Amino acid sequence: MKIAIIGAGLAGVEAAVAAKNAGATSVTIFSREAHLPYMRPRLPEIAFGSGDPSRIAMHPAEWYAEKGISLKLDTPVTSFEVGDMLMIKTPDGEEIADALVLAGGATPLKPVIPGLVSSTAVFTLWSADDARRISSYIRRIRSVAILGGGILGVESAIRARKAGLKVHLIERQSRVMPLQFDDAPSAAIAKTLEDLGIKLHLGASVDSAEEIGSKLGLHLSKEQKTLDVDMVVLAVGARPGIAVAQASGLTCDHGIIVDETLQTTCPQIYAAGDCIQYGGQTRNCALAAITQGRVAGYNAVVSTGVGTFKSCPADEIPLLYKGSDLELHSWGQTAATCASAKFERLDDGKDPKVVRAKVVRSDGTLVGVQMVGTGEGFDALVKKRRPA
Ligand SMILES: Cc1cc2nc3c(=O)[nH]c(=O)nc-3n(C[C@H](O)[C@H](O)[C@H](O)COP(=O)(O)OP(=O)(O)OC[C@H]3O[C@@H](n4cnc5c(N)ncnc54)[C@H](O)[C@@H]3O)c2cc1C
Repeated sequence: MKIAIIGAGLAGVEAAVAAKNAGATSVTIFSREAHLPYMRPRLPEIAFGSGDPSRIAMHPAEWYAEKGISLKLDTPVTSFEVGDMLMIKTPDGEEIADALVLAGGATPLKPVIPGLVSSTAVFTLWSADDARRISSYIRRIRSVAILGGGILGVESAIRARKAGLKVHLIERQSRVMPLQFDDAPSAAIAKTLEDLGIKLHLGASVDSAEEIGSKLGLHLSKEQKTLDVDMVVLAVGARPGIAVAQASGLTCDHGIIVDETLQTTCPQIYAAGDCIQYGGQTRNCALAAITQGRVAGYNAVVSTGVGTFKSCPADEIPLLYKGSDLELHSWGQTAATCASAKFERLDDGKDPKVVRAKVVRSDGTLVGVQMVGTGEGFDALVKKRRPA
């Protein structure tokens, strides 16, 4: 049976391997990008380093042939039609398949800020081509402002600083990585960034921008001042790619709607990774994309009449970041967002760059674990997930 996969990110490649292992006779991955599939979370090291995405390729080209996977690069799927067979359309023509996995990922958000939208000094960092463009641009400049203090903004700030740039990190909320960390761990991250020489602007946002000679002047709401920089990198989040699925009649909300088997509203079509909305949530998480890709690829084969369906765990997968200057672990909810939950510190508080903490509801249920500068005991705590 023939399985087609749209998108060659972590979810798409894992889905292809799972489909092949489950007995698919033909597996084809369609990729909009011209590069060999690569490790997207490692893009910052390419953007602020060599600029060569082949360094972060998941596998060499021969690997796909050896696995019996046909990889069609630079081949965007423009639409698909659902009938007895699925008809997949690309600029090169049409192909049929028995089942389909949608793994088209997400696209970076570009906030509509007057003066910023049209500037050639503003970059996103979401694809290998973005990383190449940034890598070539930073060779001629001295300063950068990064908009967004999530994991992508934090890592980009560290990498940009290590590349010798003067770095400003601008975050609208009052702390960095507000979705994953409460005040104390967030302050430990901020301290690490400041010690590296990164200038933080917390609780600030860019209202407008103007070109001043070769510089971009960013008007900051809170500080009522203009920040002159050579370049801006946008790291303010991403939106699930739903356009092709929606145009082809699948039910979508923020993401492509799937059930616990990752089936979409069409029985022959499964979806995985950043493009889906599962259990009401959309995510940008590498580990989730891998886990879901495996389930979607396998279930796509099962949908043709072989074997039994698997369910995908809806559990929150922990965030892990480990660089030479910063180590981060976060699972579950923050006390700031979970009603009646308490933030409990597990360390002695002596090192300003280290925090170990848990978030516990009033009934004793562990709902979050947060660690900065260490991962000691993190896995054991998360595994328990029982009343503390
Ligand atoms: C710079 C950066 C750093 C990150 N760091 C981390 C991290 O530290 N930890 C973490 O957990 N997550 C991180 N993430 C998020 C993580 O990379 C994503 O969650 C994960 O890669 C999603 O995988 P995916 O396969 O769903 O989508 P993607 O990797 O986005 O792959 C989707 C692919 O499908 C292609 N495509 C889309 N539409 C079509 C079409 N119609 N036809 C053909 N091809 C199509 C896209 O071009 C893309 O190549 C980071 C992301 C970025 C950008």
